[in-house]
Amino acid sequence: MIIVMKQGAAPKEIRAVIARIKELGYTAHPIYGKERTVIGAIGDERGKFVLQALESLPGVERVVPILKPYKLASREVKPDRTVVRIAPGVTVGGNRVLVIAGPCSVETEQQMIDTALAVKKAGAHVLRGGAWKPRTSPYAFQGLELKGLKILRKAGDRAGIPVITEVMNPADVATIAEFSDILQVGARNVQNFALLKRIGKSKRPILLKRGMMTTITEYLMSAEYCLSEGSRQVILCERGIRTFEDSTRNTLDLSAVPVLKERTHLPIIVDPSHGTGVAAYVSPMACAAVAAGADGLMIEVHPTPEKALSDGPQSLTFEKFAEAMAAIRPFVAAAGRTL
Ligand code: PEP
Ligand code: MN
Repeated sequence: MIIVMKQGAAPKEIRAVIARIKELGYTAHPIYGKERTVIGAIGDERGKFVLQALESLPGVERVVPILKPYKLASREVKPDRTVVRIAPGVTVGGNRVLVIAGPCSVETEQQMIDTALAVKKAGAHVLRGGAWKPRTSPYAFQGLELKGLKILRKAGDRAGIPVITEVMNPADVATIAEFSDILQVGARNVQNFALLKRIGKSKRPILLKRGMMTTITEYLMSAEYCLSEGSRQVILCERGIRTFEDSTRNTLDLSAVPVLKERTHLPIIVDPSHGTGVAAYVSPMACAAVAAGADGLMIEVHPTPEKALSDGPQSLTFEKFAEAMAAIRPFVAAAGRTL
């Protein structure tokens, strides 16, 4: 159920409603909007009629059932868009299109510092780099782990931009949150519910990638796991789904952008690197993502893609990344946004 408070409801009235929700055995999730406060009452779906009585409490405008299986992620609970704050002056979900760039994997300090400076110069806002890598083969490069995490942080600090890296194991969340501004959950872990629950308790923003086999509803249920643990800072990322098409690594489902915009208040960004798997297709699909309404982009960039330890074929050189940024600019302007 959603308890919609009247405009200008007193904090005391809001507290009283929250207390009553708890008394009835539900969890209260207040969302303090610009216009008004709404409170999601989450719990056993069966006895919800008891919550209807809250309508008679002072300050309550109405009590409405939530129709979608995901609740906190839905626009029914929160009609206004979530703006996730990543670092001072760096947000996603507002007017600015966020650009995250960097290599698939952290390999060396020099690689990361060079990349950080190059992508920042070209206009990126966040540096990426995997330290724990989810590789299909156990014999492939697995990442530098803690050493890589520290290199990533150092490179981000050197360029003066925040950083993002992937978390694969719930046991690593605390350590990674010490060093990384955003915690990434990869496509392969989108339904790792233990990880989603643990990461949802972190104070850091979360970037949750869509799985290659998850429907949009399942994807939003995964976001709901993080939100239900208390996180309010979840960023969604479409990165391609698996279809019969084999000319690209995945099929970048750009229709997910308007669908998600309609269903959720969470920001949605697009990763055309994993979405296509081919460097030459990254820039056109990045432009298309912006045209479709994406709130940001995640692009793999490497100083020497031919020598990359992972995802070289889809990585852009510094020069190609700068060209891609220039190509994206008119689309950003046409969308009435800034870069
Ligand atoms: C990545 O970002 O390097 C990655 C492994 O992405 P995905 O989880 O989308 O495959
Ligand atoms: Mn990659």
